[in-house]
Amino acid sequence: MKNDCLFCAIAAGEIPSNKVYEDDLCYAFYDIAPQAPTHFLVIPKEHIGSVAEIGAENSAVVAHIFEVIAKLTKELGLESYRVVSNIGEQAGQSVHHLHFHVLSGRDMTWPPG
Ligand code: AMP
Repeated sequence: MKNDCLFCAIAAGEIPSNKVYEDDLCYAFYDIAPQAPTHFLVIPKEHIGSVAEIGAENSAVVAHIFEVIAKLTKELGLESYRVVSNIGEQAGQSVHHLHFHVLSGRDMTWPPG
């Protein structure tokens, strides 16, 4: 757990969140400022700053997170959805703990803004 990391504190239960799912490796919770009718985030419990910090030593958790996304979206009845991870300021990353946005329930445009 990294000091002063908002998502480390959420994963540890130190800051409240609206939990969707939790296991030993990851934590999923609804976004506080939803950008779609369904918008939740899936994060690893271990601190990884962003996709840019994924390597052979920590990539297994990413595969696990995608398995969890497939499971949760099925359980929630979501047939179409978008998975997004922003890396760096220009792409819009505001929290520096790896997270995958899962957005669903409205028409989406491509390319994203
Ligand atoms: P990003 O801007 O891609 O780094 O995504 C960070 C996301 O975290 C944003 O969509 C925020 O709305 C969301 N967020 C920030 N603080 C909280 C919080 N306390 N609980 C839930 N979501 C949050």
